[in-house]
Amino acid sequence: MRTIGLIGGMSWESSAEYYRIINQQVRDRLGPLRSAQILMYSVDFGPVEQAQHAGRWDDAALILEGAARQLQAGGAECIVLCTNTMHLVAPRIEAAVSIPFLHIADAAGSAAVEAGTLTVGLLGTAFTMEQDFLKSRLVAQGLTVLVPNEAERKIVHRIIYEELCVGIISDASRQQYQRVIESLAACGAQAIILGCTEISLLIKPEHSALPLLDTTELHAQAAVAFTLEDQVI
Ligand code: GLU
Repeated sequence: MRTIGLIGGMSWESSAEYYRIINQQVRDRLGPLRSAQILMYSVDFGPVEQAQHAGRWDDAALILEGAARQLQAGGAECIVLCTNTMHLVAPRIEAAVSIPFLHIADAAGSAAVEAGTLTVGLLGTAFTMEQDFLKSRLVAQGLTVLVPNEAERKIVHRIIYEELCVGIISDASRQQYQRVIESLAACGAQAIILGCTEISLLIKPEHSALPLLDTTELHAQAAVAFTLEDQVI
């Protein structure tokens, strides 16, 4: 089994999900007492979030480059960055280490393509919905990517930082997300990419008018495929 290196803490609410999902999947595949070999470097989200909202992406990249180097030095054999938003600086992290970087958009995009879903709605932070770093990688896989309108993007973004990242799950916010999903469906989306690793804490398949492609689950699954690649099962 190869050792997975997780860069977590953004927020830790979703990093805990990665840890749970990866271990559950390894147990399901290898047996009841089996679990994954994982190193996690969990950062303090405060300075990262401040850098994001101030547009100081270099400062945020420095923190994550350091985390990736420490994981590699500790024996990690791949890097899994447990947030969509910080994939904005993925090229910097990839360049800082010599082990593979498992990109979150590759995990989500290939699941969409496999499901035959060509037009997807993307929910995430404003950075993820408005900038190109994730969308362009999905488009490169043949997908058409729709994002909510400006007012809806503000709602989706606010709920992520003010509620989901601090452990608040509310019915009122779930209803707001459901309305956004319905508008994306009306615009032609065939499925919704939950492009923020906390959204699946709020929106489960039964809450959604469209099928969900959850980046947390799909990225964790990619990590499991990596760690078990050398296993005879
Ligand atoms: N975890 C979130 C994401 O997947 C948002 C928090 C962050 O800004 O990193 O984008």
